[in-house]
Amino acid sequence: MDRLLPLTHRIRSSLAAPQFKGLDHFRTIRPRVRSWLGIFQGPAGRLFGSDAVRRRLARAHSLAGDQAAVDTLDERMMRRCIELSRVAGKAGELPFAAVICKDGEVVAEIANQVSRDGDVTRHAEIVAVSQAQRALGTTNLQGCTLYSTIEPCPMCSFPIRETRISRVVFAISSPMMGGASRWDVLGDTHISKRMPEAFGPPPEVLTGVLSKEAASVWRRWNPIIWGVIRLRGVFGPS
Ligand SMILES: [Zn+2]
Repeated sequence: MDRLLPLTHRIRSSLAAPQFKGLDHFRTIRPRVRSWLGIFQGPAGRLFGSDAVRRRLARAHSLAGDQAAVDTLDERMMRRCIELSRVAGKAGELPFAAVICKDGEVVAEIANQVSRDGDVTRHAEIVAVSQAQRALGTTNLQGCTLYSTIEPCPMCSFPIRETRISRVVFAISSPMMGGASRWDVLGDTHISKRMPEAFGPPPEVLTGVLSKEAASVWRRWNPIIWGVIRLRGVFGPS
């Protein structure tokens, strides 16, 4: 995504996008997000839980080959993640977001902080991993699932391995920059076999969950940048 940043900044500066207000902002909008997510518990929820959607999810490609892992919890958490990415885009960030949950409960949720902090290391996934460790009071996140709208990059994938996160679920792959499909940090078995005290086994990786919905956020956020992304093959199919 680094290559896209200059283009992003040029376009964004011309649009005078609002400033990203950070965690406090997300805390204030969280009730609104919850309210929005509540839509899915009503008629729309039944719509999204239709057989057609289940069939589509069942076709989702799993790098781990475990189709049974596509369940309603994954759908619910991914929708939450997608909504966070939409809010991030409106707040002047690239629309990346991440959610970490354990035993069905959210322990961390965050959007990119890169523009807000002027720091390219503040990707949503890596900030979410930090949040989850603080929330649970441990560096061992075994049993946790990390959700992101786009495949985590190698930088974010490394702490995922180090914290022993058990599952990684994303909507759209990133064949150009991904931590699984390009540089297989998530799937590497060498580090965990040689240093099992420091690295967990490769997490289950599942992709394609609600990919069209995730792509729609990017397309509405900025159709021009979305077109460039598609043209360059930065993201996988959605
Ligand atoms: Zn990253």
